[in-house]
Amino acid sequence: MTAKKGYIKRQKEDRRGGVGDPLNVEDQLPLDTPLSPASSSTNMADPVPALPQSYAPGLDSVFSDQLGFYSLDSNVPGLSKVILDKLHMKDYGEYRNAMEGKIRGATFHTNKEMFDKLEDTFKFCAACQKLPAHLPDPKALKRCIKCLNLYYCSKECQRKDWPTHKKFCKKLRLVAIDRLVEWLVSAGALPFPTEAWTRPAAEINSWEDWLSMQGDLTARMDPILSGKFMTELWKSVSRPRPEEADLRESMWRVSTEFLSRPLTIGLGIRLFNLDPYSRPLTIHLVGAALQETLEARVTDMDELSHMFPGHQGLEVVMVGPEVVEGKAIRPPLRAFGPRGKSYISGYKGLYHQFWEDVVEKGEAAKPDLVVGFHPGFHATQSLGEGWLPTLLLLRDYNIASMFTTFNETEYDLSLQILLELEMHIKAAGVNPFKSQKPEQVQACPNKPPGYCSAHYICFQGLLEREEEEAEAEQA
Ligand SMILES: [Zn+2]
Ligand SMILES: [Zn+2]
Repeated sequence: MTAKKGYIKRQKEDRRGGVGDPLNVEDQLPLDTPLSPASSSTNMADPVPALPQSYAPGLDSVFSDQLGFYSLDSNVPGLSKVILDKLHMKDYGEYRNAMEGKIRGATFHTNKEMFDKLEDTFKFCAACQKLPAHLPDPKALKRCIKCLNLYYCSKECQRKDWPTHKKFCKKLRLVAIDRLVEWLVSAGALPFPTEAWTRPAAEINSWEDWLSMQGDLTARMDPILSGKFMTELWKSVSRPRPEEADLRESMWRVSTEFLSRPLTIGLGIRLFNLDPYSRPLTIHLVGAALQETLEARVTDMDELSHMFPGHQGLEVVMVGPEVVEGKAIRPPLRAFGPRGKSYISGYKGLYHQFWEDVVEKGEAAKPDLVVGFHPGFHATQSLGEGWLPTLLLLRDYNIASMFTTFNETEYDLSLQILLELEMHIKAAGVNPFKSQKPEQVQACPNKPPGYCSAHYICFQGLLEREEEEAEAEQA
């Protein structure tokens, strides 16, 4: 069995962190219990970070994962190098090429090899940030037995870190299960099949509402639980298979991350009162990332067709420098897509370039809605180089737009930037269809996790000045 190379996803975690929900803490320090040994690793990292001397954030780094990738080093020096070493690559460029299938560097011979290498990227002391290569005995790094997620170089480091880690240990246990169960999406076993909606989209305002239309999920979950991919997964990883209840919950969380994308787009369609029954709709997914496009399947947006059964045709065009063209990612349509179907297409490049080179020439439809899943423009020092042209384009062409964020910090900062640009904010808040899967900040695990598309911000056009509004009311 060949492992899928896209499973080791990009590292974007510097953009996460911030506010999350507090956890029930356990006051018992798990020090007297033996630590589970870290599996031996022979391929030790060089302490020299992979960050090239000449590295400076460039134009497309604002859009890409490059900044996030190297920012791992600011928390754990050398971590980006470890990741590259595990993948047998020399630098970020090679990593990108491999992720896009240009070279075969990131292909693993077995799933076990892939999971081992994935786990190696989490091996550093959570208290003193030392990597295995920086320890006299690299095998001294041991895992917290409760979460099987964090590592420590010594009992002293674990003791020192416990007052902080105890707040996150329980949730990090789930995170560690989810990042393995997530492989079932790559393998094609998840998400489970879903039903066409029996109630109008306007009546479905939470995951509970959505679940109420799905009937009993057990019949769809059980074959996956007892299936060959689930067996293969726990045979290949360095931790025991969790209880069935844990696995069911994890499968649900992982599926919500996948379904959250079409459901959030659907929410945007509703919030802007777009009517997919009266005409075909074109949605541009701006800043689309590797993970949305590398292993994309033509069925990835089918939930939109379940949401609006019998619609006039929906096209989702993924646009971004990281877009990987493939079987599912075809060129944008020049004519409308088939009725009742969700059609996925893509364009590799910056959005304002796509607009100039393709949309303005009539080679792709103008968007009815532009969606950006956590674009992260709040985290870039040089907004002007990357996102600014796109944001101004969206504003000046009066395009209905919706961006999502990982956490409250990102939400607040993004709102602030959009307001400074005098965007007319139409709606904003907690996304009822946010992913339920916690996302660990890889280089600083003891932080509240983020959630994909936790919040949304809808904006369109320029904010009218108050005088103009008053005049309009009087008229
Ligand atoms: Zn330590
Ligand atoms: Zn723990």
